[in-house]
Amino acid sequence: MQRRTFLHRSAALAALPLLRSVPGDALGISFAPLRVNRARLNGWLAQFDSIGRTTTGINRVAYSEADLAGRAFTLDLFKQAGLAPRIDTAGNIFGRIDGTDRSLKPILIGSHVDSVTDGGNFDGPVGSFGAIEVARSLRDQSVRLRHPLDVVVWSNEEGGTIGSKCATGQITPPDLEKVARSGKTIRDGIGLVGGNVARLSEAAMKKGDIACYIELHIEQGGLLEKAGLQIGVVEGIVGLRWSEVTVTGFANHAGTTPMDQRQDAMLAAAKFTVAINDAVRAVPGRTVATVGRLNVSPNTTNVIPGEVVLTVDLRDLDPAKLTHFTEVFERLASEIGTATRTKFAFKRLVDSEPAIADPKVMGWIDASATALGLTRQRMPSGAGHDAQEVAHIAPMGMIFVPSVGGISHSPKEFSKPEDVGNGADVLLNAVIAADRG
Ligand SMILES: [Zn+2]
Repeated sequence: MQRRTFLHRSAALAALPLLRSVPGDALGISFAPLRVNRARLNGWLAQFDSIGRTTTGINRVAYSEADLAGRAFTLDLFKQAGLAPRIDTAGNIFGRIDGTDRSLKPILIGSHVDSVTDGGNFDGPVGSFGAIEVARSLRDQSVRLRHPLDVVVWSNEEGGTIGSKCATGQITPPDLEKVARSGKTIRDGIGLVGGNVARLSEAAMKKGDIACYIELHIEQGGLLEKAGLQIGVVEGIVGLRWSEVTVTGFANHAGTTPMDQRQDAMLAAAKFTVAINDAVRAVPGRTVATVGRLNVSPNTTNVIPGEVVLTVDLRDLDPAKLTHFTEVFERLASEIGTATRTKFAFKRLVDSEPAIADPKVMGWIDASATALGLTRQRMPSGAGHDAQEVAHIAPMGMIFVPSVGGISHSPKEFSKPEDVGNGADVLLNAVIAADRG
């Protein structure tokens, strides 16, 4: 198409009264939805499946050869979509479609393409390619947005949301010295994927630099499938508290010490594990708590355990719940300590606040799903995402599509092509809704 024709058609489209009120719509907003090219999007995912595929799963861990190959494939998709890609100094890939109003900040959409060890092909690529497809569909359908549209593929999400931390000014110098799963330091890895650690601050965006961020992602849990719903509208990414708890008893002979004279640290740890599970389950809501690691001393068959070091992972979207259960766990520990003649000592390892999705962005996602006739529910994300970093500088929202069997970070990870298509359609129309503000 000639440029003049393109502009002419875009202007005509922009003037179409797509936004119309539908009586009875609880949201008060609805519009005739556009649709992405589902076959093209799912075709890219199918091609991508061969990159980093090993006998034990997808291995595109950040900064590995397979990660580089995945990024090369992705850069090619950017180019095909007319998104002249640039790599920022943190190694994130950005591509832009200009808007019609130069005074407006960009709408940002995207995800990541790196994987965990022995992972799957959907965690990350669905949102990354979904975003590229949205940009390409807008071009194909000659729709011009007022805002610039930036597509981003963040680097090293699975190693601790490194690329998005850099881009939002959240990275710390010690982070750069950590060794990634590929065996390279973050510092070396960023250089390897085209970034520049010496100029890392240039990658940092600040509050007000972007209009909003929307990320499409697989659910990684089984709630949507279980409820028979098509779309999850993410309310936020849960905050977490990790504690290390040392239970001190007294190591003594397992044959000669009577049952009523023991100070069994293992028994106390077991009672504590059951007690925190009961405490969380007794309160309605979506709080989760897990004792995931247990180090027993001396860890010998014929000695009563003298010490146990265990970890507690506590998560919720509501910071008040995190504080409440932290207090409950400490009280339970004190009671169990008294009953078992042991001592509990708590050490906080990680304390991350919930990242709350923006109500307006959630509303655009809701409206988009409604216009497309898709069933949905609002829900928290129990897993971490780049969106939690972007939440520091911009209004954010996330769209979830069902994970078959609730499985992820596994070679069995799978989302149906129709669900991937639904998610991208929702992203496309949420972007249009966001553009209208
Ligand atoms: Zn992910």
